[in-house]
Amino acid sequence: MSLTDEDVPAWWRRLGLPGLFDVHVHFLPPPVMAKVRRQFDSAGPLIGRAWPLEYRGDDAERVAHLRALGVRRFPSLPYAHRPGIAGYLNEWAAGLAAEVPECLSSAPFFPEDGVGKYVGALVDAGTEIFKVHVQVGDFDLNDPLLDDAWGRLAEAGTPVVVHASGGPVGNDHTGPGPMRKLMERHPRLTAVIAHMGAPEYTGFVEIAADFERVHLDTTMAFTDFFEEMAPFPAALHPRLRDLQDRVLLGTDFPNIPYPYAHQLEALERLDLGDDWLRAVCWENGHRLLG
Ligand SMILES: [Zn+2]
Repeated sequence: MSLTDEDVPAWWRRLGLPGLFDVHVHFLPPPVMAKVRRQFDSAGPLIGRAWPLEYRGDDAERVAHLRALGVRRFPSLPYAHRPGIAGYLNEWAAGLAAEVPECLSSAPFFPEDGVGKYVGALVDAGTEIFKVHVQVGDFDLNDPLLDDAWGRLAEAGTPVVVHASGGPVGNDHTGPGPMRKLMERHPRLTAVIAHMGAPEYTGFVEIAADFERVHLDTTMAFTDFFEEMAPFPAALHPRLRDLQDRVLLGTDFPNIPYPYAHQLEALERLDLGDDWLRAVCWENGHRLLG
């Protein structure tokens, strides 16, 4: 039996939750979203396989769908793939967060001149969550240009979602090595590793075990789609329980090739119990981001 999006509110109500807290949702300025969709539609070089997008509505339709699902909090997580665009994306994301009360103020950054300064200003302005995308941006997490930005984020405790793993297609800078080096340099950094670190799950789960402020988001992990491509190792299942307080629901809505409900079903079939689901789908996000 498979869960549909219509079943989702009953799903979290059964757990006694007030809704869902999803730390990995994307909204992008419409021209950028159109470009991203073309990448997925043509299975471009960073995608590597057919990826039939399930949700194609405009921003208002997608916000309405998240509300219907009962997603009470979500970020917009735009990401910068080259220098010079973070400012534009940040301004747009601030506008969306001001308009949509459920939306966390989100900001990307990129190794470029002035990044320490603009990240500092965004932290001061109360930005709730940051994002860097190594798989798309193809840069070194330990680039000296980023030193001040990491320092400010570590000091402020503001979470940063880091897509540092080599899924779906890796580059010279992806993988657990650079992420571990970053954490050794900034051990107080509140990092959220996207996609449970897929496909290098083991290396990233070990980083979370070693650094108490490192979290993992579930984005696409455990779904049929990811299990076909990069199965989560059974040997790591006990670690999911150990890290119960630091696994966060993430989905990648709307850029997913299956219904939203399938991510929840994929978490439930791990069979880690209702307390685990409550922690992951609401309590951990709420504690971290309010
Ligand atoms: Zn994503």
